[in-house]
Amino acid sequence: EEKPLYDYLQQAAAEFPTNTAIHFLGKTLSYTELYDQSLKLANYLQSLGLQKDDRVSIMLPNCPQAVIAYYGVLLAGGIVVQTNPLYMERELEYQLKDSQSTFIVTLDLLYPRVSKMKALTNLKHIIITGIKDYLPFPKNLLYPFVQKKQKKLVVKIEHQGDTHLFKKIIELSEPIVDLPESNPAEDIALLQYTGGTTGFPKGAMLTHKNIIANTKMCSSWMYKSRRGKESMLGIVPLFHVYGMTTLLNLSVMQGYKMILLPKFDATETLKTIQKLKPTLFPGAPTIYIALLNHPDIKKYDLSSIDCCISGSAPLPLDVQERFEEVTGGLLIEGYGLTEASPVTHANFFWDKRKAGSIGVPWPNTDSAILSYESGGIAEVNELGEIIVRGPQVMKGYWNKKEETEATLKDDWLLTGDVGYMDEEGYFYIVDRKKDVIIAGGFNVYPREIEEVLYEHEKVQEVVVAGVPDPYRGETVKAYIVLKNNENATPEEFNEYARKHLATYKVPHIYEFREELPKTAVGKILRRVLIEEEHAKYK
Ligand code: ATP
Repeated sequence: EEKPLYDYLQQAAAEFPTNTAIHFLGKTLSYTELYDQSLKLANYLQSLGLQKDDRVSIMLPNCPQAVIAYYGVLLAGGIVVQTNPLYMERELEYQLKDSQSTFIVTLDLLYPRVSKMKALTNLKHIIITGIKDYLPFPKNLLYPFVQKKQKKLVVKIEHQGDTHLFKKIIELSEPIVDLPESNPAEDIALLQYTGGTTGFPKGAMLTHKNIIANTKMCSSWMYKSRRGKESMLGIVPLFHVYGMTTLLNLSVMQGYKMILLPKFDATETLKTIQKLKPTLFPGAPTIYIALLNHPDIKKYDLSSIDCCISGSAPLPLDVQERFEEVTGGLLIEGYGLTEASPVTHANFFWDKRKAGSIGVPWPNTDSAILSYESGGIAEVNELGEIIVRGPQVMKGYWNKKEETEATLKDDWLLTGDVGYMDEEGYFYIVDRKKDVIIAGGFNVYPREIEEVLYEHEKVQEVVVAGVPDPYRGETVKAYIVLKNNENATPEEFNEYARKHLATYKVPHIYEFREELPKTAVGKILRRVLIEEEHAKYK
């Protein structure tokens, strides 16, 4: 029987009333408190006139209010629109307009940016939560939500007119709500915008059923005996689909504790693991890399970590091995995308896993490779586009008929990723269709070159991109962040790359940088680097 998503919070509050749902910078919230406060917010939203399917933007870093807002909106019958708290005016305006959000829940520190949107978009009500409502964020975790120069951290905002204070709402409202009529298979729970690594973000319409299906798939890989007992380190942002399912929904469905951190900071993360002993740690490769590069990592006790799940970008083998060694736990690679709520493949942690593979399709999920040659299903080991079918696949893109038709075909989701399947049914990503470099007529897959460069002892991070070239159309360029205190020359890398790669794949240009641009989950933004190159030719 199908249920709405908030049902799982109700269940957790009934089954684990006193379990800690959230631990945030020393303060905790039980499942009973989380449910109670979510109901209060839902009640208040309805009293402001929120109707079923109205869009409510949530623009918050990881904190208890982000979770309360998520369930509050769903309980009131609204659609959650997750919004990156780092969005500047242009990006915020695009998303609010595209989703036609009429409500937003945000931080007091972001109020100046958000309040301008009332004149530019359909936004009517702004709900403000103070960084001090739950606990003062330590200064080092506050940046980048405040500008470095900003001296006053507390912004005075009144609870009046169209501006509402979260704290007052929780103080004054009753925890009763008029539950909306629901049709979980059709009702949209979230407009989840794609990461935007390749273009303008599109809003994926994820239904209650989609998200529940994906969360159940995650749950089926968890140990039944540890229901209500695990604790998850919550660094991946809740506003991104990865954190939304694997951190938030999985925790609530299983009665786990979420240990939330508002931003990623390597030292803070190591301290938190030592002190609070989380057992599960979903993350992205760049997060694990940053921790491995922390000079004092060996001084911390990280032995509570049983399992880390790495997604969102390819996991270099060397990172996997080193991280497993320092924690004594497993680091498993999975794969997914916004359009599939998001997980579709993963490696087993109790059975055979294969290095460099994204694993096998999840329970109830079909996956195949669409051959570039024949247009039909590819042979074993033949390269093509990965396609996916299952109950977690989105309904479509919000207000984008053409893009929806190009992405969903006969129930299959075309992922835009190039890969293959081996004889045992394990899948491999070679690269993204859009990132393939065509240099002098040859197809070059940046990921393959990155893998090689990651094995170089001086490399901390690397990204390879196709940049404009007058002769070859595109040429291969490597952007490298060197490990602490290392120096290197392009010649040295050139020599190294020539030993390991065919000539046409060897980067022609090397650039050393202090850091690389990244998305909210730490995925390196190749697009930004390519745009910089194109700008040079304008
Ligand atoms: P946009 O679609 O707007 O360009 P995006 O692709 O970053 O942004 P997401 O849905 O966040 O949006 O990311 C999904 C993509 O991330 C996948 O299509 C795939 O290219 C990549 N990805 C996810 N997991 C892995 C993995 N384990 N290995 C390689 N790539 C991965």
